[in-house]
Amino acid sequence: MTDFLAADLAASIRTIADYPKPGILFRDITTLLGDARAFRRAVDELVQPWAGSKVDKVAGIEARGFIIGGAVAHQLSAGFVPIRKKGKLPHQTVRMAYALEYGQDEMEMHVDAVAAGERVILVDDLIATGGTAEGAVKLLRNIGARVEAACFIVDLPDLGGSDKLRAMDVPVRTLLSFA
Ligand code: AMP
Repeated sequence: MTDFLAADLAASIRTIADYPKPGILFRDITTLLGDARAFRRAVDELVQPWAGSKVDKVAGIEARGFIIGGAVAHQLSAGFVPIRKKGKLPHQTVRMAYALEYGQDEMEMHVDAVAAGERVILVDDLIATGGTAEGAVKLLRNIGARVEAACFIVDLPDLGGSDKLRAMDVPVRTLLSFA
């Protein structure tokens, strides 16, 4: 991945100040998704390390991780697993608490969504503090998945999330960062 491509992708992401609350710079990837060339290039780059290797499932985190994860799963000929906010999935679930900036919440996946030993790649649009992705990795590992890597279009490295995942022995792939 070249610096030029990273800069090109970064330019396709809109930044909205003070959303959803004062002091937050919200990195809005809907503009990247709406740009056919940028969306294609982002997905192609994300999957590049696994081209030709066997990935059983891609797990996407609600909600933007569904869009990117669905495209990644298709590209890798893997199944897709939604990780959702609690109370949204119809069948029996497993649940994991995760840290938010203030307080905590819970996420769920179907108990039979991943078989023990299956190779899973976790996908979301952005990693900030890493609380969400950490919860998803624990949830997947609890049902016996092998979390091969976690992929994000955007890293906010100052918030430490990607380092937190690496400390859990999860290889992290990000395409660009906003410091
Ligand atoms: P975290 O758990 O702190 O790593 O937060 C990651 C989750 O929150 C992802 O699902 C992101 O979509 C969302 N998120 C956190 N910070 C931002 C931000 N500055 N801009 C856009 N999305 C964000």
